[in-house]
Amino acid sequence: MTVSLQMLADELAALRPRLDEVSLGIHARPELKFAEYHAQQALTDWLIESGFTVSAGVGGLDTAFVAVHEGSAPGPYVAVLAEYDALPGVGHGCGHNLIGAGGAAAAIGLVRALPGHPGTVAVIGTPGEETGGAGKVRLAEAGVFDGVDAAVMFHPSDRSVTTQHALAAAHLRVAFAGLSAHAAKSPWEGRSALAAVQVFLHAIDALRQFVPPTARLHGIVSDGGQAPNVVPARAAVDLYVRDRTTAAAEALVERVRSAAEGAALATGTRAEVTETGPLYAERRDNPVLAAHFGAAVRALGLDIAPDTPDAPAGSSDIGNLSQLLPVVHPYVQIAEAGTPAHSEAMREAAATPFAHDRAQLAATGLAKVAADLLTDPELLAEVRAEFGAVSAAAR
Ligand SMILES: [Zn+2]
Ligand SMILES: [Zn+2]
Repeated sequence: MTVSLQMLADELAALRPRLDEVSLGIHARPELKFAEYHAQQALTDWLIESGFTVSAGVGGLDTAFVAVHEGSAPGPYVAVLAEYDALPGVGHGCGHNLIGAGGAAAAIGLVRALPGHPGTVAVIGTPGEETGGAGKVRLAEAGVFDGVDAAVMFHPSDRSVTTQHALAAAHLRVAFAGLSAHAAKSPWEGRSALAAVQVFLHAIDALRQFVPPTARLHGIVSDGGQAPNVVPARAAVDLYVRDRTTAAAEALVERVRSAAEGAALATGTRAEVTETGPLYAERRDNPVLAAHFGAAVRALGLDIAPDTPDAPAGSSDIGNLSQLLPVVHPYVQIAEAGTPAHSEAMREAAATPFAHDRAQLAATGLAKVAADLLTDPELLAEVRAEFGAVSAAAR
C-alpha cells in the first residue's frame, strides 16, 4: 500500500480553502502561550469533521490536543505537530498560524488519500512554544508522546532548508531585592534594586566579547520599579542564555549567576536567579526524515537547501522532543529573503496568498513523509537506525 505524491497534492489542493480560512482566522486573533483557545477550537473542529477523534486539554495543558485517526491494521504511530501561539507585541510574527493549519491539513489530506492506512495518524496540538512556554516539554513529561514513532512539522521562514541547527536556551529571571526609601529625602536609606539591574546588564554586556560566537545573551527589564519617587526595592531582568549545546548553555548560566552576584554585592542588594521555564535543548533533526521531506517538496517544485550549519539560529521546544524520538522541523520560505523572524514584516507575510501556497506545499510534503512512514517499514527502520546511532554517539 503506497500513496503517490500527486494523490496527496490533489487532496491538499481540495483542502486549500479551509486551510486558508483556519490559518487566517488564527492570524487575525493572535493568542499568547497557553491561551490559544480560538486556535484549538478552529483546528479541532476541522479534524473532528474529518473523522479524527479529538482529546482536548491533554497533558495538563488546556489548549493542547491530540487528534487521532486509527488505521485499518496495526502499524506505526506518526504525529504531525501543530503550533499555534503568537508573540507578545507582534502577533503571528513567527507564522504559527501556518504551522497549525498546515499541520492539520497534512494529516487530513493523508487520511483522505489513504483511508485504509495502517497504524495511527495523529495531529498533536502543542501550545506555548514561544517565550519559553515549553509546551512540548510539558506534554512529553506527561506522556503524550509515548508510543509516537516519529513527529513531523514545518516552520515558515524567509528561506527553505530541510534542517537547521537550533540552539539550547535557558530562560532566566534575575531578580534583585533591595530596600525602599524616599528617592529625594533619604535615598541613602535605600538600596536600589534598579541600580543592581543596571550593573548586571553592564556586566552581561562586558561578558559578551568573551563568550563563544555561537552564544546569545539577551533580555528585557521585566520590572524596573514602581515610581520615580521611591527607591525600587524590587527589580528584575528576564534573560535568555543560548548556545549550541545544553552543556554550553548551562555553563554560561553559571557565569550569568556570577554577574548577578557581583551586581548585588556592588549595590547592597540580593540577587535571585530562577528559571521561568524548562531549558530548550538543541535540535537534532533526523537526517533520513529531512532528506525524505526535501525530496517530496523538490518534486513539487520548491528549491530547498539541505542544510545551513552556520546560519544564525533560534531555539524551540522541539529540541527536547528531538532527544526522545525522531523528528523533523524543516523551514519553508513564505516571505522575501531577509525578512526577520519575530517581526511585523513576518507577521504581514504570514497572511499572504503566497505564504498559503507554501503552507499547502509544505503540508503535502509532510503528508508524504507521514504516509511513507506508515506504509514503508524500510523507511521507518532507517529513521530509527539513524536516531539510535546519534543517541548512542551522544551518550
Ligand atoms: Zn516559531
Ligand atoms: Zn518564534
